[in-house]
Amino acid sequence: MTGERCAQSPCGEASPWEPGALLAGAVALMTTPHDILKQVFGFDHFRGVQEDVVMRVLGGQHTLAVMPTGAGKSLCYQLPAVAHEGTALVISPLIALMHDQIRSANAIGLRAASLTSADADRERTVERLKAGELDLLYAAPERATGDGFRRLISRTNVSLIAIDEAHCVSEWGHDFRPDYRQLKGLLDDNPDVPRLALTATADRRTRSDILTQLGIPDDGLIIAGFDRPNIRYNVRPRDGLPQQLKSLLAQQPGAGIVYAPSRDKAERIAEQMSGTGRPALPYHAGLDPQVRSRNQAAFVESEDMVMAATVAFGMGIDKPDVRFVAHAGIPKSIEAYYQETGRAGRDGDPAEAWLFWGAEDFARARQRVETEVEPDRRSGERERLNALAAFVEASGCRRAILLSHFGEDPPEACGNCDNCLDPPATIDATEVARKLLSAAFRTEMRFGVGHLADVLAGNDSEKVRSFGHDRLSVFGIANAEEIALVRSVARALIARDALRADAYGGLSFGPGAKPILKGERQITIAVPPPRKRTSRKRFDGPADPLFDALREARRKLAAESGVPPYVIFHDSTLREIAARKPRDLHELGTVQGVGAVKLERYGAAMLDALSTNG
Ligand SMILES: [Zn+2]
Repeated sequence: MTGERCAQSPCGEASPWEPGALLAGAVALMTTPHDILKQVFGFDHFRGVQEDVVMRVLGGQHTLAVMPTGAGKSLCYQLPAVAHEGTALVISPLIALMHDQIRSANAIGLRAASLTSADADRERTVERLKAGELDLLYAAPERATGDGFRRLISRTNVSLIAIDEAHCVSEWGHDFRPDYRQLKGLLDDNPDVPRLALTATADRRTRSDILTQLGIPDDGLIIAGFDRPNIRYNVRPRDGLPQQLKSLLAQQPGAGIVYAPSRDKAERIAEQMSGTGRPALPYHAGLDPQVRSRNQAAFVESEDMVMAATVAFGMGIDKPDVRFVAHAGIPKSIEAYYQETGRAGRDGDPAEAWLFWGAEDFARARQRVETEVEPDRRSGERERLNALAAFVEASGCRRAILLSHFGEDPPEACGNCDNCLDPPATIDATEVARKLLSAAFRTEMRFGVGHLADVLAGNDSEKVRSFGHDRLSVFGIANAEEIALVRSVARALIARDALRADAYGGLSFGPGAKPILKGERQITIAVPPPRKRTSRKRFDGPADPLFDALREARRKLAAESGVPPYVIFHDSTLREIAARKPRDLHELGTVQGVGAVKLERYGAAMLDALSTNG
């Protein structure tokens, strides 16, 4: 087999990524999409809507697939690219994303290349394209809309045109790119070539815009649900963030992202995390571009690194084995939260999302809306913050809130979020809220929660006396139990815009204050049950020496091939190998994620690792 492959490689390259005859020979024997799924991708079954999308594309129909991150979008065009003769053209907005996809495609034996400014081998790629030696060609919209490229494509046997991140075509989408609009010309040049638009985030308006702009019929729309069942959502008030992050790291051995609200904080968090012995790097727009791309590359290759980053990080990264995403402050909106946490667990393995929030996050965000946002956009922004407040303060299922936000009708409890797993106690705190609001009012709305608590508790402190607050009617009206709730209640009131905090923490009334004082609105707060962290079961279970040995073997293969470990095999595949202990290549080939090419390339090394450690 190896000899054949070299003979078929026209340029004489010894590249291990030149599958040539190996795959071509195998494909000739495959008749159905399921055969290809098994042989090339190593899977017994399609996931979710993958099969519907693939069947439409194979049937030559134009399609828009809206699939959440991690639902296996790339397979939807890779499989047809294998099944059909000719080259599948993939339009993608980011070079980093393209190169990542190409590595993964090469690893399963697909012949993939890109034409971008970052590719030194463009001439060679054009030659391969003309010779019909490419299964997949990636290009950015800027290039794909140019005359030269369109001429090149007109002389090429194109099997499919896939448009990734298709929401960029819509002005309603959150990432409008004018070049996407120009793609229509390229598509019209090739009216009979099936087009497949793909996106993870598109609301109703954006979807219908994509259909129109790309000439896809309404019945070509396939929507998978928004749910990411493998992500466990956890939300906590921020309370000693460095310690909270440290204990998160202690129970999360895999790679993770911590989103920080500012560049400074990203730097500081990276430093603190490094102090725990865990590899950690910062990423934000203030870093030198070279440092930034070096840090990003290091993260992509790593199995345990923590990236402390601003939201500038994440676009264009397709690292499937990110095990957790933590937010050190509130995100911009529920949509942003869904997108950012969606970077965890793309491989489908268990992953966690953590959000650490503080009242000051809401105070700052609300202040920004009132001072920096144009007046006609304010009410929309306020609504966004209210939705976020309801999410962080919820005592019910977090997933249910997220999914209803996207118009789905989810079950009441998911069983995989903090509130489902450890239901918090809910307390009617209306009385405490009214006392706190009264105290703020009586003290002329300029003191922080600490002072107000002192007044309510009847603490005869120097500060209290110097302002004469010991003579107020609210002095000492709260009992110890109520005082214990004051901070949580203040947080809840600030989040709901019943209290507003100034730059020094001084609290004044927001629009939500009056209804509470008048007894028209109840305040219920969720109090998470106290518990010891150590009882939490880690999802990857106790240390498994066999799994570790396979990881080690994978690391070696990855280093030899110059690709990240996940390109060789996903963790879930290694876990299945460790559990089933296949005795030979044939048995190994039945493991999910082990296709023909990977079996040939890596099978022996895996069996080796099994026999020396088994
Ligand atoms: Zn839940």
